[in-house]
Amino acid sequence: MRLKLDRDRCVGHARCVELAPALFDVDDEGFAVLLVHDDVPRELESDARLAAENCPEGAIASEE
Ligand code: SF4
Repeated sequence: MRLKLDRDRCVGHARCVELAPALFDVDDEGFAVLLVHDDVPRELESDARLAAENCPEGAIASEE
């Protein structure tokens, strides 16, 4: 699985960071940044799906 983050859609709720702190952080302005750019480790896949499903802006996509 890989994650894609559309920074143009991100408005900075940081919900992704709360749900998947190993996969997301926020930059100095409070917008999300991806911490994993290659395949998501298998043990973090459920967190990745949770973050994608709960981003209010639809800024996170997961690709199997
Ligand atoms: S939950 Fe979505 S809108 Fe909020 S910081 Fe994360 S990517 Fe951005």
